[in-house]
Amino acid sequence: MTAPILKATGLTKHFPTPGGLVRAVSDVDFTLNAGETLALVGESGSGKSTIGRLILRLIEPTSGQVEIDGKQLFTLKAKELRALRRDVQIIFQDPYGSLNPRMTVGAMLAEPLRLHGLASGRAVEPAVADLMRLVGLQPDQANRYPHEFSGGQRQRIGIARALAVQPRIIVCDEAVSALDVSIQAQIVNLLADLRKARGLAYLFISHDLAIVRHIADRVAVLYLGRIVELAPAAELFASPRHPYTRALLSAIPTPDPTARRERTLLSGEPPSPINLPGGCSFHPRCPFAVERCRTETPVLTGAGHVTACHLWPELPPQPAPPAELETSDRLKRLQARFQDERPMAAL
Ligand code: ADP
Ligand code: MG
Repeated sequence: MTAPILKATGLTKHFPTPGGLVRAVSDVDFTLNAGETLALVGESGSGKSTIGRLILRLIEPTSGQVEIDGKQLFTLKAKELRALRRDVQIIFQDPYGSLNPRMTVGAMLAEPLRLHGLASGRAVEPAVADLMRLVGLQPDQANRYPHEFSGGQRQRIGIARALAVQPRIIVCDEAVSALDVSIQAQIVNLLADLRKARGLAYLFISHDLAIVRHIADRVAVLYLGRIVELAPAAELFASPRHPYTRALLSAIPTPDPTARRERTLLSGEPPSPINLPGGCSFHPRCPFAVERCRTETPVLTGAGHVTACHLWPELPPQPAPPAELETSDRLKRLQARFQDERPMAAL
């Protein structure tokens, strides 16, 4: 067994707000192995970005722990924290928002190299050029500013900046969600190539299940701040257990109206994380809920493939979503775009 490079235990983040306590993340446990891609999926507001921010220690937890390489992230002193920060980087959805508009790409990439003593003096320029080539950008574009690049190129810059400090873990927070479909495939392929080349581990946050299916080794499904199911990706897509996971998979849009699945499962908005329903948070939207679901919070059970549902494994079988997904036009188009490999080409 590979030892996990990251281990979250009882991770909890509640935000006190004038309207009440926002329970963004509650008692989340997971591990991330070296070289692995673990996807976090769930509707907007389910706590995905909050988990990402906790792992970077951009925010402090309400309770719980994150261990990175055996070190407790939240009790580290400033100096140790700085060293650990190198190991964990983040790529955001909107690279434009996180790139300094007044800095050239070259300067932006040189900064972390110098800061962490990875290159100095005359070694900086070739190191920057290497980074740019690595992500499919041309080194002679180093003196340009972010606005002179396309969306896909800017995401490449964001990736290069994350890679500059030679991290071992990258949190990708909706990293391709804002890009055109054809560009998404290029960036996802680039991330996959880099993972292999650099032995990176990704915490891949996304609401796009088709992309997750393509890139993830394991998938954790979040509902209102709790993991309700966690499994190897192939298994999760082939035999989802939790009613929420089933609903999510059935809601993958298909362009063919005759292939449209029952989507009644996910009727209604997710409840507010301020007034969480008691018991299983999903019970008000769950077609299978029984009395116990209203009163008792289920815990994750199983081995390898875990789910937090009182009714599992007695849940009625559902028409398997994968078969239908397999034949959906959308999946065919997605597969086509992932096969359309031009990984290193400048856009
Ligand atoms: P996701 O990334 O899955 O869309 P988030 O982690 O961004 O979800 O948010 C989870 C919940 O926490 C949401 O209800 C969000 O409004 C709330 N939240 C996030 N950050 C804060 C904050 N700083 N203060 C109050 N509530 C917050
Ligand atoms: Mg988010």
